[in-house]
Amino acid sequence: MKLDCLFLIKYGEIALKGGNRKFFLNKLKTNIKCQLKNIPNKIIIKWGRIYLYIDSENKEFAEKTLGNVLGIISYSFAYRIPKDINEIKKHALRLAREKEGHNFKIDARRQDKTFPHNSYEIACILGEEILKNIPDLKVNLYYPDWIINIEIREQAYLYSSEKNGPGGLPAGCSGKGLLLLSGGIDSPAAGYLMARRGLSVSSIYFHTYPYTSDKALDKVKTLHETLGNFIPKSALHIIDFTKIQLEIKSQANPDEITLLSRACMMRIASLIAHKNNYSCLITGESLGQVASQTIESLSFTNSQTEFTVIRPLIGMDKEEIITIAKRIGTYEISILPFADCCTIFAPEHPLIRPELKQITESFNKLQLGDMLLKASENAEVLHL
Ligand code: ATP
Ligand code: MG
Repeated sequence: MKLDCLFLIKYGEIALKGGNRKFFLNKLKTNIKCQLKNIPNKIIIKWGRIYLYIDSENKEFAEKTLGNVLGIISYSFAYRIPKDINEIKKHALRLAREKEGHNFKIDARRQDKTFPHNSYEIACILGEEILKNIPDLKVNLYYPDWIINIEIREQAYLYSSEKNGPGGLPAGCSGKGLLLLSGGIDSPAAGYLMARRGLSVSSIYFHTYPYTSDKALDKVKTLHETLGNFIPKSALHIIDFTKIQLEIKSQANPDEITLLSRACMMRIASLIAHKNNYSCLITGESLGQVASQTIESLSFTNSQTEFTVIRPLIGMDKEEIITIAKRIGTYEISILPFADCCTIFAPEHPLIRPELKQITESFNKLQLGDMLLKASENAEVLHL
């Protein structure tokens, strides 16, 4: 274990957390370790930065992984050098020689106030040194092609090419949520957004075999694994939904089928949430997207659970949701053509504005209590 490679990591919102900062930082540290899959590492948290030391042969893997750790706003591969201005000049020049583009900027920060030059002076000294040796370069503070950062702390840290992390809060610091994960584009994006607000997101999928094929289930598993790039340690609960779906189809008014199966999903998800201490439900619904996502329909599905239902996509349009799905790598999986139960059992003319009292009566008339309980008890659970 050489631990000869250093990443300097910046966190955003956690810095504002006052007395709770330690809790958030510890969560972030645990998540970094978990997402690095325990490659040899050492993490030190100090003075507003996280220092991650790893072996240089794992540099590429670490670089890719840090881009997925929620709570990180940026990270850079960094050189640790002695706090000596001549040493710093030498290394800055070496870095500058590797860069492409003419316009550059030096960004200096002096954390250690005993260092004899202040931030402005350090930037001037390094800028001059670079211009003296590579005369066709130009300083451009507003539109630089590249930046060299220098931070004077207990040592000097030099880095350039800072990469963006996803930002937000570390997954798990806001509690545990249960995502209703279908094979579509929306729900994975919804899960990601709530993980980025600190929820540890596990998923539940309602499978209607053989009406939905095992390929549809595999697709959901792959989506769940892809979300796992951002969310350490989450579970996927798989519910056999076929009997319930068929019961609804045989008993209910065709135009109420979709809403009644949604209500069943809410009920079962609530039972699973109780059993596993999840504190809220998350769905990928977006206002007006389909009949089951009007205010009236959402009010009905809400009424079937005592849990808070979080719908982070409620005000987004499809293009915005697709942008998120592409960014997190779920889009390409979601568009694979394996139909979900909602599509197969969808009525031709679904109810758009259900009357709460009436649809609740229809639901109660079905008397599905035992079936819902049984389905929740027989859930299959996969752990990442
Ligand atoms: P998505 O909304 O995920 O793109 P979709 O558009 O096909 O899929 P909708 O009919 O819009 O699904 O369903 C609304 C929400 O209900 C989904 O976002 C998801 O949270 C939940 N949901 C629907 N079907 C299922 C299912 N089979 N298993 C788990 N959750 C489901
Ligand atoms: Mg949808």
